[in-house]
Amino acid sequence: MALKYDFIIAGSGLAGLSLLHQLLSNKSLSQKKILVIDSAKKNLNDRTWCFWEKEPGPFESLVCHAWDTLQFFSPKVTKEFQMKEYRYKMIQSGDFYSQVLDLAEQHPQVVFIHDEIQSIQEEQAGASVQTTQERYLADYVFNSTAIFNPKMDEGNTLLQHFMGWFIKTDTPVFTSGVATLMDFTLSQQHGATFMYMLPTSPTEALVEYTLFSPRVLEKEEYVQALENYIEKNLHIHHYEITHQEFGIIPMSKAKFQASIGPQQRIINIGTAGGHTKPSTGYTFQFVQKQVAKIAQRLEAGDSPLVEPTWREKMFLWYDMTLLDVLMSKSLTGEQIFSHLFSKVDPERILAFLANESGFWEEFSIRNAVPQAPFITSGMKVLFQ
Ligand SMILES: Cc1cc2nc3c(=O)[nH]c(=O)nc-3n(C[C@H](O)[C@H](O)[C@H](O)COP(=O)(O)OP(=O)(O)OC[C@H]3O[C@@H](n4cnc5c(N)ncnc54)[C@H](O)[C@@H]3O)c2cc1C
Repeated sequence: MALKYDFIIAGSGLAGLSLLHQLLSNKSLSQKKILVIDSAKKNLNDRTWCFWEKEPGPFESLVCHAWDTLQFFSPKVTKEFQMKEYRYKMIQSGDFYSQVLDLAEQHPQVVFIHDEIQSIQEEQAGASVQTTQERYLADYVFNSTAIFNPKMDEGNTLLQHFMGWFIKTDTPVFTSGVATLMDFTLSQQHGATFMYMLPTSPTEALVEYTLFSPRVLEKEEYVQALENYIEKNLHIHHYEITHQEFGIIPMSKAKFQASIGPQQRIINIGTAGGHTKPSTGYTFQFVQKQVAKIAQRLEAGDSPLVEPTWREKMFLWYDMTLLDVLMSKSLTGEQIFSHLFSKVDPERILAFLANESGFWEEFSIRNAVPQAPFITSGMKVLFQ
């Protein structure tokens, strides 16, 4: 007979551990019996998460650097702007995993299992998870593995792929309060291509070569682009690479399901639940909002399924439209972002990309980009 838990968290990456943190921080949920299953032990610093927010968030103590001034560059636009409401923040995933795992250690009713999940299915009044070794039961399963992901291919998905180097220089060269969100002054032959640069001290910065395109490049091409940029654009000739990251984030028009099965006992969270913003790849903040709502609903005795509001559906339509414009190549990423940053207050663009803008901001954003391609794509995705 399989052991029954209140909740199973299937996948303990960003979304799984953010949810666990919410549950354990909530008085009325912190004693629930929780099983966390992941094939990997989360003990590596495998990614750097950046995001922007107005108020301190649940992981404020982990923010290792924050910026209030951002830059945007393209061949036609140079913009530096100081944010009044938002701050751009960085968290190392290694610090995040350790903090949540340390918190879980204080809760003996939270059990961790390292095993490959093979299937997840609904049962009578609950759901089950089958791993290579065992079958487990729970009232609800929160899934962030790719098991239920929709089919993604070149017809519906662009890849955001990037290689980032943390570099350290001998002499002070960086302004640590100023981050470069996008520098499009690079060859655009593969699709939208930009450098992203986050200085964390006068001698240290993360420099990331980022592309939105249908296919990843050969490793050598990222290396060459980073070397060129550091040498020719930043004029840095002596540096050490202290850490590296490589990532592929799907930017997809495919429909991710919020839940699986008629009883809604399997809830998808994180990227698997469609919480990676399709037009930017940012996920961290959207995950925090979703798991906070799940905890609120559980606390109130409601189903943890969070239905999107009509505003969220509207933002999804904007995302799909922008993605369609990029995929149909009616405008390039460099053109779209240059129009936006030359005509709109950049902080309003950030509010829009965080799904936090109001109607007037959206109106000015819609007016800032060439109308015909956006109307064509907007209509297309509406009737798809
Ligand atoms: C290098 C990198 C940098 C990023 N930077 C940012 C950023 O700056 N800002 C931002 O907002 N987003 C960023 N993202 C995107 C996004 O935040 C991350 O991908 C995030 O980790 C997604 O969270 P998740 O929980 O959905 O998936 P994950 O964190 O990938 O967690 C899924 C978990 O499921 C486990 N798993 C999968 N399949 C199985 C299985 N069959 N059995 C058992 N376990 C399984 C995996 O081991 C993993 O631990 C970045 C992504 C990458 C890769």
